Amino acid sequence: MTNPLDKIKPCVRELHAYTLSPDRATLKINQNENPWDVPERLKQETVRRLSERAWSRYPDFVPASLHEKLAAFVGWKPEGVVAGNGSNELIQALLMVTVEAGKRVLIAEPTFMLYRQVTTVLGGETLSVPLNAELQFDVPALKAAIEKQQPDVTILCSPNNPTGCRLDERDLSELLEIAEGIIVVDEAYYEFAGRTVVPLLERHENLAVFRTFSKAKALAALRVGYLLAAPALAREIGKAVLPYNLNLFSQTAAEVAVEMYEEELLPAVRRVVSERERLLEELRRVQGLAPVPSQANFIVVRSSIHPRRVFDELLARDILIRDVSGYPMLADYFRVSVGTPEENDRLLASLREIFEKGMTVK
Ligand SMILES: *Cc1c(COP(=O)(O)O)cnc(C)c1O
Repeated sequence: MTNPLDKIKPCVRELHAYTLSPDRATLKINQNENPWDVPERLKQETVRRLSERAWSRYPDFVPASLHEKLAAFVGWKPEGVVAGNGSNELIQALLMVTVEAGKRVLIAEPTFMLYRQVTTVLGGETLSVPLNAELQFDVPALKAAIEKQQPDVTILCSPNNPTGCRLDERDLSELLEIAEGIIVVDEAYYEFAGRTVVPLLERHENLAVFRTFSKAKALAALRVGYLLAAPALAREIGKAVLPYNLNLFSQTAAEVAVEMYEEELLPAVRRVVSERERLLEELRRVQGLAPVPSQANFIVVRSSIHPRRVFDELLARDILIRDVSGYPMLADYFRVSVGTPEENDRLLASLREIFEKGMTVK
């Protein structure tokens, strides 16, 4: 008898699956989702377009009409746009066409776990540059690492999940100049920072930018993301994307979301940003908490009580946060997404109870 698991790559057997706790709560602030659903007008227009189209026919082989709308929206060439079934699919596609045994991917940790996960599954090696003590990008260390090690791919998440720090465009320009490899910037949260590195695409053929509809654009359930790169690079990455990767429903909703962004979605983004600043101020005033300023729609918070216990105490109050204490450097931290004003007030009241009044439920 042979064990079929012996056929699994050793690098995969050693890996822990990327999972999320299955807990549920009425206040869900563990995944950086938009607290406001997409407006009814956007849903209705999507359904109207869908019902006019035969569902018996395949969607576009490549979602060209969405690529064109996205190109106009961001100010880039349609041939340099690839839409995917969530930006995670595109991160995987980029790594699939670049990583094999002997290839190296540089990341700045703590960051989104998926980069290391996919690199490992593909047999590549992950190089890690820690954030600095203020949980900001350590630009001199990144420069030195790129210059000395010349990784095949560098992935920088900006604003970074889970810390909320942002990479300055001039710093990125310098990294792009010295890098012989590809530099990926994951801009999943760029709307909340109000800044983007997209203008650098024109001058740097080794830059790829990833974006998603799951956060500011409030379409997490529909799984849509896109990447922007020089057309030649986009074409290569597109080879690892399956045909018909985007279903018609998601493609249509994404097109409507792009058309209606300013009018229907941007106001909620502005509300999240102003709530983020208020939440930061209020968290600062809670004894035992030290929130880190953020450019995204979440805040990572240093806690005098172990994050796992804070998680349990909040869950007992029907609030679901993210315990990030397993990430490098974040042993004392938890992360909360910015919610509606009412939701943020509820979170703050519970935290005051736990930290200032010492009230425990669990
Ligand atoms: C949420 C998030 C994404 C979005 O992934 P999708 O597959 O588009 O839902 C991408 N990158 C980071 C860092 C994220 O936090």
